[in-house]
Amino acid sequence: MKVAVVKAESYQSRTVNEAVNKAVDLLGGWEKYIKKGDKVLIKPNMLTAAAPEKAVTTHPEVVRAVIKAVKSQGAYPSVADSPGVSNVKKTAVKTGIWQVCEAENVPFVIWEKSRTYPCPEGKFVKHFELAEMIGDFDKIISVAKMKTHVFMGVTGAVKNLFGCIVGTNKARFHLRMQKHSDFAHVMVDLYYTLNPTLNIIDGINGMEGQGPMSGDIVNPQIIIASENGFAADLVMADKMGFKAENMPIAKAAIEENRSALLTEIETVGDGKDVKYVFKRPHTYESMQDTYVPKFILKLGQNQLTARPSITSACIGCGRCARHCPPRAINIKERKAVIDYNKCIRCYCCQELCEHQAVELKDGLILSLLKKIGIYKA
Ligand code: SF4
Ligand code: SF4
Repeated sequence: MKVAVVKAESYQSRTVNEAVNKAVDLLGGWEKYIKKGDKVLIKPNMLTAAAPEKAVTTHPEVVRAVIKAVKSQGAYPSVADSPGVSNVKKTAVKTGIWQVCEAENVPFVIWEKSRTYPCPEGKFVKHFELAEMIGDFDKIISVAKMKTHVFMGVTGAVKNLFGCIVGTNKARFHLRMQKHSDFAHVMVDLYYTLNPTLNIIDGINGMEGQGPMSGDIVNPQIIIASENGFAADLVMADKMGFKAENMPIAKAAIEENRSALLTEIETVGDGKDVKYVFKRPHTYESMQDTYVPKFILKLGQNQLTARPSITSACIGCGRCARHCPPRAINIKERKAVIDYNKCIRCYCCQELCEHQAVELKDGLILSLLKKIGIYKA
C-alpha cells in the first residue's frame, strides 16, 4: 500500500503537471493504470458553484493535469460530477472545470439519469442508484480536494465518490443513515462499488475548520496520490494533524478489514514528512480523538454536536429548505427557520447555502468542554 505526497507551490499549470505526474510516477507510472483506448471518467469534487480560489472544489489545473496524462496514454478522458443541488453546467463554469474541458477538447458529461449498480459485498447497501453513464467507462479516477467536513471529519478521495449519486438523491442517504458511523459504512460500500483505478487529492490549497463549504482556506501545497482511496485519505488526514484512523470513513473501512492501518502504508515523495495542524470541524466525531471521557461523549450527541443556526445573511431563498432531508427547515418571513426536533445534524444546509448564512454553533456540553479547556477545536 503506497501513497505519494508531492510538493507543489502553486496552481501554475506546469507546476501542477509536474507534481501530478511525479506522484503517479512514484506509484509506478500512468502506464500502470491507464491503457491505450481506455474510456476514463475523471471525477473532481465539484460541490457547488464556487471559484477555484475558494478551495471548495478541485482546482481546474489539477483536472487539466489528469486529462493530459490520460490522453498521453492514448486513452479517452471525460469529466463529470453531480453537485448536490446546483445547476451542473453553472457549477462547472464557475469552478473553471468546464473551461478546462473545452480547452482540452474533452467532454464534460452532464449526468441526468441513474441506474441500479449492484453492491453484493456491501455491508450496509446491496445496490446504489448511480449515474447511468458511469457504466460506460473502463476506469475511474477520483480527483478530490483536501478539506475538513462537518459530518465526516474529512473529505478526500472516498467521500468524493458520493457525487456519483445524481443530484438530490444524495439526501436520501442522509435520511436513512443518520448516524455518522452508518453513513461512513455506506461510503465504504460505495467505494467498492465504483472501485476507482487511481485517487488524486488536490491539497495545493485546502480547507480547515467548517468544511467542506464554509471553512477557512489553507495552503498545504501538496498533491496526494494512491491507487487506494482509503490509504490516500488516511495519509491526508494524518497530514492535517488528525488521528486519521478515527475519521469515520477510515474507521468504518478498518473495521471491515477493507483498509490498511496508517502504519502499514508506505508514504513516498518529497512531501512525505510535511505536517499541518488544521482547525477541526465542530463535529461529534472530531471529538473521538480527544481525551474527553467516552461516557461524556455518550451523554448526548445533540449536546456535543454543533447545531446549525441561521444568520442575518439569510435571504430566504429556500435552497436549504428544499434539500433538508427530514424537512426540518421552513421559510418564514423570508428567513429560514430550523425545527431542531426534526434536525438530524447532517449539515446539508451549511454545505449548500451559497450565502454562508448557516453557522454551526456548539451544543451546551461542547461549549462547556471548550471553556474548561478539555476540548479545543
Ligand atoms: S440559509 Fe441560505 S440556503 Fe437557506 S434560505 Fe437562507 S440563504 Fe437560502
Ligand atoms: S436543518 Fe440542516 S443539519 Fe438539520 S437536518 Fe436539515 S439540512 Fe441537516
